[in-house]
Amino acid sequence: MNGSLRGIGMTSRRTRERMIERLREQGIRDERVLAAIGSVPRHIFVEEALASRAYEDTALPLGFQQTISQPYVVARMIELLLDGPTSRTLGKTLEIGAGCGYQAAVLGMLTRELFAVERIEPLLARARKHLAELRLTHVRLKHADGNWGLPEAAPFDTIIVAAAAARAPQALLEQLTPTGRLILPLGNSGSAEQILSLFERRADGKGFSETRFDTVRFVPLVAGVE
Ligand code: SAH
Repeated sequence: MNGSLRGIGMTSRRTRERMIERLREQGIRDERVLAAIGSVPRHIFVEEALASRAYEDTALPLGFQQTISQPYVVARMIELLLDGPTSRTLGKTLEIGAGCGYQAAVLGMLTRELFAVERIEPLLARARKHLAELRLTHVRLKHADGNWGLPEAAPFDTIIVAAAAARAPQALLEQLTPTGRLILPLGNSGSAEQILSLFERRADGKGFSETRFDTVRFVPLVAGVE
């Protein structure tokens, strides 16, 4: 373990249990989601100077003007993807905007088939390192512009977009299986807040339903790679 983290209880089970208790208080109910979040040590994903804040329920800076997602929002998005009249699983999943891999680690605890793309190469390198540290070797990471999805691995049962867009990218909708679900923060470019929106492809494959949920704050989905 990293020396500066030792002794301040950062990795202690109790610190993480408190975070899970807070998520419960905020209304997260799916035990699978709570267990997955509880099993991912968030402090390894943040810079050392911020490690003492890793279990606060806030987004934290990653560098490159990007942020590591807030645990509540990660939990909420995954819970909405899993929610419904019949019990669902994530199935084959694509994450757009892996950042340094925190949400990918949580998703990796919930599905064996996970692909994640990130447009900023140095962040992707960090995601690779962190997921390897957690032995989540089944997560497949790719340096790419997620606006185009991941045609070589499509279709997906689940697509989760960790960056805000004015509309759901058509390529992503087309890469969903029938009854497949996509969640993303929808908002006009420049608006600070967005609406978490869930799209579900109809069973006959033709058309989508759209349901809107909470107000959230995400960095924008940007075109191209760097
Ligand atoms: N999932 C991350 C959140 C990272 S913030 C976590 O768990 O903490 C959102 C990420 O989306 C940023 O790293 C940003 O670089 C990335 N991103 C933005 N537009 C993208 C695009 N078109 N394709 C792939 N990644 C994109």
